[in-house]
Amino acid sequence: MRRAVWRFFHNQVNEQGESYMLFTLSGAPREAFEKFGMPRNTAVFHPTFSGEGTVRVDDITKDPRYGKNAPHFGQPKGHLPVVSYLAVPVRGKSGEVIGGLFFGHEQPARFTREHEQLVLAVAAQAAVALDNAKLYENIKELNEKKDEFIGLASHELKTPVTSLKGYLQIIARNLPPDDKSKVLANRALEQVGKLTILISDLLDVTKIQTGKLPFTYTDFDVIKLLIELREILQQTGPSHQLLLNLPAGELIIHADSQRIEQVVINLVTNAVKYSPKADKVIIEALVINNKFRVSVQDFGIGIQPDQLDRVFSRFYRVENLASHMSGLGIGLYICQEIVNRHQGRLWVESTYGEGSTFHFEIPINTN
Ligand code: ADP
Repeated sequence: MRRAVWRFFHNQVNEQGESYMLFTLSGAPREAFEKFGMPRNTAVFHPTFSGEGTVRVDDITKDPRYGKNAPHFGQPKGHLPVVSYLAVPVRGKSGEVIGGLFFGHEQPARFTREHEQLVLAVAAQAAVALDNAKLYENIKELNEKKDEFIGLASHELKTPVTSLKGYLQIIARNLPPDDKSKVLANRALEQVGKLTILISDLLDVTKIQTGKLPFTYTDFDVIKLLIELREILQQTGPSHQLLLNLPAGELIIHADSQRIEQVVINLVTNAVKYSPKADKVIIEALVINNKFRVSVQDFGIGIQPDQLDRVFSRFYRVENLASHMSGLGIGLYICQEIVNRHQGRLWVESTYGEGSTFHFEIPINTN
């Protein structure tokens, strides 16, 4: 049977910076090629590897370039008998040769100008795909480095900020109540508190990435927790009235109380931050189908429908937010992870320009 064979070579640089090749082939068993290794940079192959251009010959054995190279001086013994030959370089965006398409046929003059054009078009497509794959690899690598950096930086920041907080607490405590500096020391403490939350959020993101966010489950009264939280939050954000709508009595749930607290604080803080012109936020809790649900409603800027899902992504912030609405875009990402780990769900309903309601729901008994 007369056969046409083709090989596609693709340059890769390994970790040691050495160039090596990957190849695919068709029309012949892989073993038929394997004993000959990769195409060498011989005179016949040279124009393709160096990117000079396409080589199309009717009979490679009659080409003056053929048989000039040691050790085989022609095709290695046992090589598939290739007579017609067509080779096209695949060039990356910056012009470097990143691979080549090599076609052979055991009969002479099998490859025409049309074949050549077709292969050139395929090579152009292959180049785009390879460039994209390389870009993707680069981005993935940079992303991993960024995560590693965030982890290291936040870890390093933690110790000095904890010391700073300790010293400031001592200063504030030792100042007489009527000392004007006491107000300043307390404000400094407030700012250090914000910094501490930012750092621990960044550390949480790193832990989520590595699957190491710790959880401690206990049984606790979530109604009591919400009442206490509202009081603390009302003190820190007096610009809005925090209205609480709760079922009567106590409700014991099995969950990580600190993490649930973290979710509520995040949602209420966001509700206040993203409704600068409003004066109230409604926090509502109820039990539905053996699940505990909390809804935090604001009357603020709202979220456009196409952004609703995206706000839960890591580092995602809606564009063109006013400068006083600063943030890192990680709060909701952490909330979602916490709720998911409790086998629950977190979602948002919003009317752009009118306000948003964030809901989360967790089973009353998560184990
Ligand atoms: P951050 O608030 O630090 O930017 P989050 O992860 O908490 O990070 O929120 C992500 C984004 O979702 C915010 O940047 C904002 O664009 C949007 N967002 C969150 N909560 C609200 C809200 N209550 N109203 C309007 N937009 C919100």
